[in-house]
Amino acid sequence: MLIKPGTSVSLKKYDPDDCGSFGAHEEAEEALQKQLTELTHLQNLLYAEGRRALLIVLQGMDTSGKDGTIRHVMGGLSPLGVQVKPFKVPTQEELAHDFLWRIHREVPRHGFIGIFNRSHYEDVLVVRVHGLVPKKVWKNRYEQINQFEKLLVKNNVIVVKFYLHISKAEQKLRLEQRLADPTRFWKFSMQDIKERQYWSAYRKAYEDVLSQCSTKWAPWHLVPANHKWYRNLVVAETIVRTLRELDMQYPPPSVDLTQIKIE
Ligand code: AMP
Ligand code: MG
Repeated sequence: MLIKPGTSVSLKKYDPDDCGSFGAHEEAEEALQKQLTELTHLQNLLYAEGRRALLIVLQGMDTSGKDGTIRHVMGGLSPLGVQVKPFKVPTQEELAHDFLWRIHREVPRHGFIGIFNRSHYEDVLVVRVHGLVPKKVWKNRYEQINQFEKLLVKNNVIVVKFYLHISKAEQKLRLEQRLADPTRFWKFSMQDIKERQYWSAYRKAYEDVLSQCSTKWAPWHLVPANHKWYRNLVVAETIVRTLRELDMQYPPPSVDLTQIKIE
């Protein structure tokens, strides 16, 4: 769901269990496959055109499904034209620069789809929640982010941002699954338990992100994400719609084809 620019967002008004008009996973499977087929085609066009890039920003609480979304929605894309960048705790070198320095250099080149698993928004989320910089510093960042994204858009980078919306109960379930399944132990981190204690501070920080940084040029999409299959479908549909609206064309031949004879 598109967050209309200027909306003052209250997350409790959005149901993380929402499944649209679908009753069950199976019904949505066909719809998802259709979207993924079209996405493959659109990616090929974007690459062939080589005139603009698509930047997908994924944010959400721990366990909200950022990795899973990348696997299920972007998994079928051609590796030739896609790059995934996870943003972790900044290094000393990164911290010695402005917060957008490490971000800007990972923006995809024209023709490419770039996926940010976390992003510059961490600098107004985790940084705010844990007071890693003074309030007056992070407060100024919303406007800086909006201006940065405007610069990207004006330079032919399309920016689409997804907030994966899960409930606190769903996070509990997912953390418990990580603890109960040997194939998921690796995903579990004590950090997740610690961060969970800051649930409401993160919610507030996300509400401000969605309220202040959903712009005409780079809107936020809120994705109900308690049901993974619905989350995948919504993300896929939104990306397909965004790319379709570009009305891309395959470039014309660069030479006079009638003059060419392959011996
Ligand atoms: P994960 O995505 O689970 O691999 O965890 C990455 C960790 O890096 C998360 O705990 C984020 O909060 C943290 N992180 C990402 N960006 C920043 C940032 N700019 N400042 C501080 N921590 C960050
Ligand atoms: Mg994690």
